[in-house]
Amino acid sequence: MLVDQFNRVHDYLRISLTDRCDLRCFYCMPEEHYSFTPSPQLMQAEEVAALAKIFVLEGVRKIRLTGGEPLVRKDFTSILESLGRLDVQLTLTTNGTRLGAIAEQVRSAGIRSLNISLDTLDRNRFQVITRRDLHTQVMESIDRMLELGIGVKVNVVVMRGINEQEVVDFIRWTKDTPIHVRFIEFMPFDGNRWNQEKVVSLKEILARAREEFDLVPLEREKHETAKKFIVPGHQGTFAVISTMTAPFCGDCNRIRLTADGKLKNCLFSTTETDLLTAFRQGLDIRPLIYENIRAKKAALGGQFTADLDRVEVEQLENRSMIRIGG
Ligand code: SAM
Ligand code: SF4
Repeated sequence: MLVDQFNRVHDYLRISLTDRCDLRCFYCMPEEHYSFTPSPQLMQAEEVAALAKIFVLEGVRKIRLTGGEPLVRKDFTSILESLGRLDVQLTLTTNGTRLGAIAEQVRSAGIRSLNISLDTLDRNRFQVITRRDLHTQVMESIDRMLELGIGVKVNVVVMRGINEQEVVDFIRWTKDTPIHVRFIEFMPFDGNRWNQEKVVSLKEILARAREEFDLVPLEREKHETAKKFIVPGHQGTFAVISTMTAPFCGDCNRIRLTADGKLKNCLFSTTETDLLTAFRQGLDIRPLIYENIRAKKAALGGQFTADLDRVEVEQLENRSMIRIGG
């Protein structure tokens, strides 16, 4: 079992497959010249499967594929198929632009629920945020997943001056549609123009929601990162992921493998362990995994606290979100 010094058991692995993407969300991808990691440096399909298997033998029970945009990899469906054979709950985070085309393969790999990111219901605003005109494709993917009976969580990063007025529109969408909307507080990463004024907090999101709806809190499941609510009579639910103002590090069970095969024990960790190089040299990577997890800090990579006024963004050490893998 992958246990850290605070007795947290790590049984949930997020694997980034690429740092490429067909969208350009400004909060994720740095604006300056961004050079993608050359393909030979990325985990190849067989390496993803072999590394995943080692983690499963060490106690991982859930794997999420992410990126960048995982579906831009040409070998995505073969990776999906091989991980579908492991004894884990397999899931996916995607921007949804290409999901419709591989809907059947997603279902046959055993995926029962997945996350689709969509920050706005407005096509023009989508173009401003992502710098691409693919809103319709994302909406169609969501419909297709629901038709197939696959659960959909819609990830919405809420940012002041961009989309905070849409909180109520997203909740209204849950009335007749069985989706689960998750509002995410805007987080700081390398080159993403973060500042504390742009964070729309848990408190503020709930205040906006209460202006229009009655909210009933739902019970928090173990390791759940979101505070969940339902509006009575609605088919779907909504939740807030309050990493910045009310983090949930106490029972964190997550670890991350970047697309170039580095293990990160926290989204905000300042250190990484290069598993891929060791694996390619034929070394036993298990001691490296254990050492990495033992070094995990109590909260937020040891880099800041939930007091937004004290986050010194220039001092933060991290990759951009697209390079880490969300
Ligand atoms: N391309 C896929 C997608 O967009 O769903 C997967 C990768 S993306 C990095 C994973 C998630 O991270 C998305 O839901 C995205 O909105 C979220 N994300 C990226 N940058 C963020 C930031 N600065 N603050 C909060 N969430 C962020
Ligand atoms: Fe691409 Fe997802 Fe990042 Fe947007 S959030 S740029 S879709 S990886």
